[in-house]
Amino acid sequence: MEYVIGLGANLGEREAAFRDALALLDAVPGCRVLRVSPFYESEPLGPPQPRYLNAAARVESALAPDALLDALLAIEVKLGRVRTERWGPRTLDLDILWAAEPLHSERLTIPHPGLCERAFALTPLLDVAPELSRHYGPILAALGGALPAVANVRSSTKTKP
Ligand code: ATP
Ligand code: CA
Ligand code: CA
Repeated sequence: MEYVIGLGANLGEREAAFRDALALLDAVPGCRVLRVSPFYESEPLGPPQPRYLNAAARVESALAPDALLDALLAIEVKLGRVRTERWGPRTLDLDILWAAEPLHSERLTIPHPGLCERAFALTPLLDVAPELSRHYGPILAALGGALPAVANVRSSTKTKP
């Protein structure tokens, strides 16, 4: 099944954390990173803290959503995330933004519950899944439109042929 994973970070070497996270995700058995969005910066939600770097990755995975979330949480831990307060600063946050099949369980809601309020999630989502523009494009427009990509960072790359 295809998924879109959202990446966020506002502590430490944010780009390095994204690069490492994407490599680890691609290395998860049954997961392949198909496409990576440009990187964006956004103002933090929650308590005062540094600005976020955001991106999205389109992933083909044999894993069920629950197993994929476990893999994402393991990557967060491996790259040094310490959970303190909700919406607090973090070295890495990996969310399932979208999947080919929606889901609502105790642990997971897909599409991500915050997606339609977050330009920093919708902008990279549409970079890697432009076919979703018909649905999400107007929602992003109502939020003020796509964010400008951050200059001088690696932008849209195919990680594997
Ligand atoms: P937000 O969910 O508002 O982006 P957050 O990412 O900081 O905030 P976390 O502490 O990382 O929140 O995650 C809280 C819980 O959200 C996770 O343990 C997970 O069970 C749940 N969750 C529900 N839907 C999703 C989803 N689509 N992707 C990732 N986690 C999800
Ligand atoms: Ca999040
Ligand atoms: Ca999260």
